[in-house]
Amino acid sequence: MKCLPQIILLLLCISLINCNQNKVGFQQPVATNEALKALNESFEKRIIKVADNIHVAIGFGLANSILIEGKDSVIIVDCMESIAAGAAVKAAFRKITAKPIKAIIYTHNHTDHIFGASAFAANEQPDIYAHELMPYYLDQNAAIVRNIIEERAYRMFGVFLDADALVNCGIGPSLNFNEHTELGVIRPNIVFRDSLFVSIAGIEMQLFHAPGETPDHLMIWLPNEKILLCGDNLYKTFPNLYTIRGTPYRDINLWKNSLDKMRYLKPEIIVPSHTEPIYGNDSIQQILTDYRDAIQFIHDQTVRGMNMGLTPNELVEQINLPQHLQQSPWLQEFYGKTAWSVRSVFDGYLGFFDGNPTNLLPLTNKENATNIENLAGGKEALFQQIKQAFEEEKYQWVLELTDYFLTLHTNDNAAKDFRIRALIKLGERQSNPNARHYYLTAALELQGLENKSRVIPSISMVHSVPLSVIFNGLAARLNAEKSINNNQTVVFEFTDTKEKWTVQIRKGIAEVQPFVIQKPDITIKVKTTVWKELAAKLRKPLKTYLSGEIKVDGGEIAFINFMRLFDMEE
Ligand SMILES: [Zn+2]
Repeated sequence: MKCLPQIILLLLCISLINCNQNKVGFQQPVATNEALKALNESFEKRIIKVADNIHVAIGFGLANSILIEGKDSVIIVDCMESIAAGAAVKAAFRKITAKPIKAIIYTHNHTDHIFGASAFAANEQPDIYAHELMPYYLDQNAAIVRNIIEERAYRMFGVFLDADALVNCGIGPSLNFNEHTELGVIRPNIVFRDSLFVSIAGIEMQLFHAPGETPDHLMIWLPNEKILLCGDNLYKTFPNLYTIRGTPYRDINLWKNSLDKMRYLKPEIIVPSHTEPIYGNDSIQQILTDYRDAIQFIHDQTVRGMNMGLTPNELVEQINLPQHLQQSPWLQEFYGKTAWSVRSVFDGYLGFFDGNPTNLLPLTNKENATNIENLAGGKEALFQQIKQAFEEEKYQWVLELTDYFLTLHTNDNAAKDFRIRALIKLGERQSNPNARHYYLTAALELQGLENKSRVIPSISMVHSVPLSVIFNGLAARLNAEKSINNNQTVVFEFTDTKEKWTVQIRKGIAEVQPFVIQKPDITIKVKTTVWKELAAKLRKPLKTYLSGEIKVDGGEIAFINFMRLFDMEE
């Protein structure tokens, strides 16, 4: 017993050594961008009374949430990014009124507007309104491109950055995701195509399809109050015509048309789902006109240049907003950027190929890097170029050179160090928070930060996902190399719903059908809820199998081997 303190000390030392080894962070405090910092005041957490019966919660998370109070119940527009954020806003709204929630309206499918819904809906069973395309985009993000969108979104929103590095997100204070964050979206039960005129809780409102930041976007017009709730089609920064976390083309012509619809409604008040409300028809008209003009300018001048044969790089060099728009406080690049927007318009119309035959079938990264290293005069000479570029503060050039260098010498710490320092310098210089966070997080990742999913979907949210989404997601995870010689038919019989689905592996392809296509090699009998929880990684496959909740005809080993054909990491 006497040696216990020494053992504790030893264990403490070991844990400290391990901690230090894992420590990822900035050696010096990251410089604050003053222009960005100036926005902080506008994101202070508070409830703004917009009209007698309309309140907006600002600063509780990345987006706003809006309360519309009716005679005997209330309507919530947008629900925050998580159950915790939604619960905090709900508690604040409860201080204004105790009336039950009759309806929730999602302005669009983005994370920061929907994943707190179950906090608001708890014990209240409200109707959930959305545009008819909303579930499609929700499922795309959840099942098809979730991994990469999450990874890039975490960089863009700076979710791994500490308070020094993360000043704000340009459209709101921050996206608060940590490993305990629970998400709870409820699928809409009332959808529409073009418009929907309803009276909820005695409040007359018109929902209009307003494609813009997303194709499933809607806006809410209260004709009697002349108040417009515009979602993310207008906020106080240059619009995110392209988002660097990755997105299908945002048809910016449709976005401009939606802004025109907003102009001609002649609202007296606009309540956006990010940044503060806007008051007075005259200023609203000015802001909307500038905003739509900026979008049309980007669109038209990009298309004009494209038709002259200019490539994206050339277009970015040439296209700058007219002075009066550059000076508008509503068009400062605190979220979107003109350079990204121009590239996105080009890509939206013409796709990846810039028209230059050099780029039809380019060299591999390794061939390119080898050629550049030879041109520089060898490894050491290329390294000297990196060092010199850094000393001359040519940080973008450092990134480009280290791309080549690290392709050939993956673990070269000296080159990595220059790249990390260049990323930090570039991040510090950016007043655009998306770019700032992306550079800074990339610097942390080079030091070993693991950019992994930090959120947990709620059970009810997982159960509401259609089987088609689960199976299409599975097919897109088939490991082609492992399954290239595999021919196998697996039928899933769902014991609760009696549905039958087939997954047929055909040498690198998994065909999925919602019926039995031929006599199976393996039949799996399972409840839909269990299968969905497995797909969402809320359960461990082996434990579930051992518990008897999955029954396999055709051999357990065959089933395990089948599952191993899919990428199941995380
Ligand atoms: Zn948003």
